Amino acid sequence: MILAQWDRRIRRATELTSTYPFAAEGLRFYTRVATFQKGLYAEIQKSLADSPKISSARPLRDELDLFLLLPHFSGFLSLIQQIAPAPLAEAATELAQKGPAGWQQAIENFWHGDLELAAPVDPAEDVHAGDSHEASSSDRLLAWIYLQPYAEYLADHRETLIVDGTPSTCPLCGGKPIVGVLRSEGDGAKKSLICMMCAHEWNFRRIYCPACGEGREPQMAFYSAPEIAHVRVDVCDTCHTYLKSIDLTKTGLAVAVVDELATIPLDLWAREHGYEKLQINLLGT
Ligand SMILES: [Zn+2]
Ligand SMILES: [Zn+2]
Repeated sequence: MILAQWDRRIRRATELTSTYPFAAEGLRFYTRVATFQKGLYAEIQKSLADSPKISSARPLRDELDLFLLLPHFSGFLSLIQQIAPAPLAEAATELAQKGPAGWQQAIENFWHGDLELAAPVDPAEDVHAGDSHEASSSDRLLAWIYLQPYAEYLADHRETLIVDGTPSTCPLCGGKPIVGVLRSEGDGAKKSLICMMCAHEWNFRRIYCPACGEGREPQMAFYSAPEIAHVRVDVCDTCHTYLKSIDLTKTGLAVAVVDELATIPLDLWAREHGYEKLQINLLGT
């Protein structure tokens, strides 16, 4: 049962709330969001249960079932209004007021767009707010969080894709990696990346920058802190981008996307040292 993957995330977030008190607020928010996402995934599963598997040749984002997705969107916005930090909660209130046509536009713009995201800002300072051609960064963040379970369902229910090489973006949907994973293989570890949109995991080279393609060892480095030994920050000194990797050879208990969210001190370290994150997470970090 694939719903178990949502339960693992929720359980891990609850666990880490006490391990990393500095992340407790963000993790509590995440737990509520993931619980909603699990429910939406279950709805999608119920509705699409009889659909045949989609061919791996068809790009994942060619699908978009608005009849299925739109009816649950207002419930999602009310939840965000109640539980999110101020800028995102305000953005949810504004988007809620736009009604179904506005919701559809926000969903379509994001799904068919470049999947670029920025941290939510005060609506008054958002240069794109009110511009009908470009959705505000907060609307994009909301659409992203909402569409994740749908993208993940589509990724889970398609034919296996044979991937050529080690692409820097998701071979299924084109999303950027949100976190890396290290698993043991022989005497060493193999690396894979997890998609920010559909949660698909694909193999990747150990020393290679997914942002700029740098592959020279001195330019590619990593940092880790003794208190959070199973998570490292992979940095690129050519394009000054970073992405965290969760080392499952050090703890099998970790759930990559959740441990990524919780390890805020590593983001602070990276930013202080002039690195910018390849892909922000749903806390806007
Ligand atoms: Zn993907
Ligand atoms: Zn780079």
